[in-house]
Amino acid sequence: MRLNTTELDRLKTSLKQAGLKPTRQRENVLSILLSRRDHPTVEEVWQRSRTLSRGISLATVYNCLESFVESGLVKQVNYEREPTRYCPNLRPHAHFKDQETGRVYDIDLPNEVLIQLNSILPEGFRPEAIEISFHGRTKTQNS
Ligand SMILES: [Zn+2]
Repeated sequence: MRLNTTELDRLKTSLKQAGLKPTRQRENVLSILLSRRDHPTVEEVWQRSRTLSRGISLATVYNCLESFVESGLVKQVNYEREPTRYCPNLRPHAHFKDQETGRVYDIDLPNEVLIQLNSILPEGFRPEAIEISFHGRTKTQNS
């Protein structure tokens, strides 16, 4: 897998906008996250990034992901007793976890749903983030 110039420019811009220096390794790790939006763990990102950067260490991948999270470029997704997963989708969305396959899907949250959810909060409660997670099964296999 190689990045074309347009994709590379876009990655560099995203990194710069997030206040991060666009290094080759950050570009590669970010492109991995954006190319398959299946909420990979650090191990999975590392496995995939080895096709782009030979010899990249797990620690380097971990550091890249941490800097993305700190700068708001990527969100962490946590499930009890499981390694952290990473999500580059910054739009308001919920997650659906297929309990059979372990796969995590993004589910868009329409604005009217968000407004309704906020309306159930008691007076004076000001949310800064919302996390909604469904657990269950999907009918689509291998999608
Ligand atoms: Zn997500």
